[in-house]
Amino acid sequence: MELTPAEVWSEVLAAARDRMPEQSFRTWLQGSEAVGFSSDELLVEAPSEFHAEWLEDKYGDDLTEILRRVLGKPASLSFQSSPSGSVASVPQVELASDPAAHAQGSSTAGPGVQTPSGTPSGRTHLHASALNERYTFDRFVVGNNNQLAAAASRAVSEKPGRTYNPLFLYGGVGLGKTHLMHAVGHSILERDPNRKVAYVTTESFMNDLVRAIQQGTTREFRQRYRKIDLLLIDDVHFLERKDSTQEEFFHTFNALYDAGKQVVLTSDRPPKELPGVEDRLVSRFEWGLVADIKPPDYETRVAILQKKADDDGLSMDEEVMDFIARSCTASVRELEGAVIKLLAYSSLRKEEVTVDLARTALQGVLREQESGGPGRLSPEVIRDRTAAEWGVKPQDLTSKRRTRELTVPRQVAMYLIRELTDESLNRIGQTFGGRDHSTVIHSIRKVEETMEQDEAFAHKVRGLHARLESS
Ligand code: ADP
Ligand code: MG
Repeated sequence: MELTPAEVWSEVLAAARDRMPEQSFRTWLQGSEAVGFSSDELLVEAPSEFHAEWLEDKYGDDLTEILRRVLGKPASLSFQSSPSGSVASVPQVELASDPAAHAQGSSTAGPGVQTPSGTPSGRTHLHASALNERYTFDRFVVGNNNQLAAAASRAVSEKPGRTYNPLFLYGGVGLGKTHLMHAVGHSILERDPNRKVAYVTTESFMNDLVRAIQQGTTREFRQRYRKIDLLLIDDVHFLERKDSTQEEFFHTFNALYDAGKQVVLTSDRPPKELPGVEDRLVSRFEWGLVADIKPPDYETRVAILQKKADDDGLSMDEEVMDFIARSCTASVRELEGAVIKLLAYSSLRKEEVTVDLARTALQGVLREQESGGPGRLSPEVIRDRTAAEWGVKPQDLTSKRRTRELTVPRQVAMYLIRELTDESLNRIGQTFGGRDHSTVIHSIRKVEETMEQDEAFAHKVRGLHARLESS
């Protein structure tokens, strides 16, 4: 069977995506393209030299292994940077004040880092990434699930620093938070290319911050950030608990705010539920507007599929879209994954995209969703059923509140997850708003002890255990 390089690479990507953290996938692999195939070597173009080196270095072996499996024969991979420099995301490149540097992505800045003044990189640089060119308002489908978040983002892009500041967007994985945040950036730059827009992940922001604290250059750090007109900080639920970093975050935030600069933040939960974040920072996050994004409903899912088909020139008839929209309900990311899988499948098999093909292609996905048997129970399901059993709200179990009314079901839920799944202690902790593994261990012991002492309690826990197991 003859496959084009693009087909082969899209198969490799689909497999790689399942194996690596989404953030890494997007940073390093999204935007890569296969450009050629010579005998047994697949040539892949990455957005920048830096990407190419990184891919080779960190992911080369894994990707080669996947490639071999896809092709069913020995093969190798080689990476080069794309000459055009049209880039999806440029890690660690400051969005320089020169708009040309933004427009051309890495081709001017390369893997190096510039300080805002354009002087060669000092030790206190700013690690910002470019905006994903696909994440625009045009490509964002507004539905019941994201109406407020989308409207607020538009308002902010029209009057940065003057309507909602900060804008805090929260919601589960793959629901469009990063997309909306980038859209604000694009829109502001479209209106005025001289504006300075910086997109940073919380992780890289923290890294810069910690370095500044260590080097005693927090003042310069703040100064640098103050030159930015729009600061986009993604995934603040990764904010560290350390007091010193939160303190500096607080001051940087205030400096920007006082200077009338717009800040947009995203998180997987509302400010109040961020574990270990100081109250004064929580209250800053709530100053402007807090808007949530929910999973898309059926109509929105169909609209998103329709939009993707139109934008990307895919041919999928209504029946197929209906099938995908009914099968993939959790997130937009999941919808997109299903489409990619289906298209890869269709091109590999050289078959038309039909509902039957979709059913076969998405079998793995569907089986996972339909199964509710033991060992397949997700920590979230167990947590939420435990909350229901104790008559509290599921989100209370992920919150920081520590009243007895919540502590008991929270501990029981942790215990049951440990009993009924193979999840690690860390992952269990994450299910409860990012608690650490020692808390989880303590909770489990506590439940075991109490069960020995309190027969009624033990009965209740065992009852739920049995019901969950047989569900
Ligand atoms: P999050 O940051 O919330 O995890 P992303 O912003 O990365 O999610 O979105 C996941 C994917 O789904 C992206 O490819 C994004 O373009 C797409 N997406 C999310 N919401 C929408 C929407 N409303 N319309 C179109 N595409 C969307
Ligand atoms: Mg995101």
